[in-house]
Order: sequence, then structure tokens, then C-alpha cells
Amino acid sequence: MTNQTKNYIVHYGELSLKGNNRYKFEQRLIHNIQTALADLGEIELRKFHSYFIVEADASAPTEVLERRLRRIFGIAYVAPTMIVPPQMDVITETALDLAEGVITPQTTFAVDTRRGDKQFPVKSPEVNRRVGAAIVEATQAPVQLKDPDVTLEIQIYEAAAYLFIRRLQGAGGLPIGASGRVLALFSGGIDSPVAVHKMHKRGCNVDFLHFHLHPSAQQARDSKIVAMARALLAPHRLSAPLYLASSELFEVAISTYDTALATVAFRRFMMRVAERIAYRRDAVALVTGESVGQVASQTLKNIDVIGRAAERAILRPLVGMDKQEIVNIAQEIGTFDLSIQPYKDPCSIHAQRPDTWANLREVKALEEKLDIDALVDRTLADYVDEVWIRF
Ligand code: ATP
Ligand code: MG
Repeated sequence: MTNQTKNYIVHYGELSLKGNNRYKFEQRLIHNIQTALADLGEIELRKFHSYFIVEADASAPTEVLERRLRRIFGIAYVAPTMIVPPQMDVITETALDLAEGVITPQTTFAVDTRRGDKQFPVKSPEVNRRVGAAIVEATQAPVQLKDPDVTLEIQIYEAAAYLFIRRLQGAGGLPIGASGRVLALFSGGIDSPVAVHKMHKRGCNVDFLHFHLHPSAQQARDSKIVAMARALLAPHRLSAPLYLASSELFEVAISTYDTALATVAFRRFMMRVAERIAYRRDAVALVTGESVGQVASQTLKNIDVIGRAAERAILRPLVGMDKQEIVNIAQEIGTFDLSIQPYKDPCSIHAQRPDTWANLREVKALEEKLDIDALVDRTLADYVDEVWIRF
């Protein structure tokens, strides 16, 4: 198994996709796989009716290759595979090669065949029986159909038969770019990176917008925020803009008011700035890491009042999740450690006890006094720095 170990069969999910959607989905996925593996040497990708074959350079490090493949959205599962002509004797022989050293008298096993080509003369259960019997004879290993230690899978198509014993669970979801663009309100906390991850998973390209308190654009560029956005894009080797907006103008304006509405007013200010950037970037929706009732500023009522500052749809992929569930994902995707590094963002300095049931009329009255439209215009004109995260 020298060069064969670098062949992977890739099966994608969401098979209900039909017609033109399916074509777009496949083209996106091909593009994303090529992008994600681009730095790992020569990659050949062949598309068949319902699966791809990825042929990687023999020098590509297996562990990195597999880790990358498993994180590409739109893939249901992937497996390092043997590729042989779809003939019964060749299939049996290859199965015996694969079993050698892996299936032993101490390991239970099963053969699981899928006949993608209905013209193939032997039906799946019969393939299972014949190949299974040959393996028992060669290895004396016990067959166990439920929960075996090793499952040898055989998939038979017109072009070839594929045999593998190591199915790797894929990330699921839709290929990034298949669904369109969104703009994420991205803080230094735990939640919004997870929200970005969820939108990536649903096939969205995500642009980033962060509001900061740094005295200079350079300090914002040196902050952990850039590293966090990079961590989310890195598995896909995806490039995206990060907008670093100073909240200075808003802070100066609000500082003369001692009000429990400052937090909600600030969030509405963020929405207004976000909407204007989204318009320029053709981003269809805004994204936040809000979750109902998680903190005082995120009561149902406040979420409503904040949301009314923007006309664009606001997506809140974490809205019904518990904090612990969010933390678990943050750990999985590798943003948690950066999230808990100390960082002072604008939300941390507003009223210590924010109004938990903000009144829209009162907030609007406050915004009028702040001359919020002018603050938004001036912030956009002079206080937003655009950084491209590239790979
Ligand atoms: P997070 O962990 O994402 O910071 P959080 O639980 O701390 O969330 P809040 O601080 O109330 O919640 O923020 C709610 C949402 O508002 C965030 O998930 C994010 O989408 C947005 N947000 C908060 N602070 C900022 C910021 N400084 N820049 C951009 N967006 C922000
Ligand atoms: Mg926060």
C-alpha cells in the first residue's frame, strides 16, 4: 500500500440538492478542496457521479492531509482507499491484501458493500458473503455484523471499485461559498468565533467586523483579534477581510451621559456601522454570537431592540445554545484559548448594570442626542481599518 494510501474517496452530504444547485455545490466543493490542500504538493481531483477521488502527492504528510480533509465543509466522509477494476476476483484479492495484519483472530470484522453500479452482476449481500468467507479462511477472524472492530467497505461503481477500512467522519454542512456572503460582528470573546464557524458550516463566506478601543489602528492589527480570525480561516486556507473599527467617537459622545442604556445604544451603533459595510461588500446578512438570556444585555427584549437598528437580516446561530455547548465547540475548533486571553473591548466598559429591558423609544431619544447618524458616518469615513487575512 504505497502510492494507494494517498488516494481518498470523498463523499459529500446534503444529497437532496438537485439540478443546478447540485452542480454549484460540487464545483464549490472541488474548489475548496483544492484550496485547502494547495500547499501540500500536487493534488489531482476527479469527479464522478456522486463522489470525488482525491489523489495526493506521495510526499504529502498523511496526518495533515486527513485533518484538512475532515474540516472541509460539505464532506460527509472521506476514506483512504484502494482503487481497483470492478471485478469480483480482483475485489476479493484486494480485500485480502487490506485485511492482512489488520483483521486477525483477535478482531471482529464485517464486510459492508454498496453497489453504486446496479449492472454489477453480484448483489451486495452476496459480495459481503463471498469476501467475508475469503477473509475468514485467510485470517480465522470472527465475523460480527453489529459493532465490529473493523469494517471493510466495498463500493462498486462503473468506473472502479473502492475498498477501505478507515472511514473518516467529515465536517458535514455545505461548501463555503455555496450560500453567499455574511458579515460577522466579531468580538474577542468565546461566542462570536463559534458563530462564524457555524456560518462557514452552512456554506457562507464570512467577512469580519470588530470594534476596538485601541488608540491606534496598528495596535488593533497587533491584537489577538487578527489571530482569532486567522484561526477560523486557516483550516480552509480561505482569505477574508477583517474590518477594525475604532469605537472612539461613540465612546466620547456617550461619556457625558450616565445611562443604563449605553450598552444597547452601543450595540445598535455597531449594527448601523455593520450594515453599511455589509452593503459595500454585498453581504446579505449580519451575524452575531448572541444567545438568549446569556448575559444582561442579551435578554429577548434587548435582542429585539438591538436588531431594529439594522434592516438587513441578523443571523444568530447560537441563539438557543447553552454556554457549555458553545465552549465545547470553541475548544474543538481551537479558538477557546485565544478567547479567554484578557482583552478589553468596548462592551466591557459600558454601564456595569445595563438596562435588561430597554425601551426602544428611550434608546431612540438618546441616539438623537448623540447625533448617531453623524457618528456612524464619521466612524466609517475615518475610523475603520481594513485588513485582509490571506493564505
Ligand atoms: P462573545 O463571546 O462573542 O463576545 P458575549 O457573550 O461576550 O459574546 P456580548 O459581549 O454581549 O456577548 O456580545 C454579543 C455579540 O455582539 C457578540 O457575539 C458579537 O457578535 C457582538 N459583539 C460584541 N462585542 C463586539 C465587538 N467589540 N466588536 C464586534 N462585535 C461585537
Ligand atoms: Mg463579548
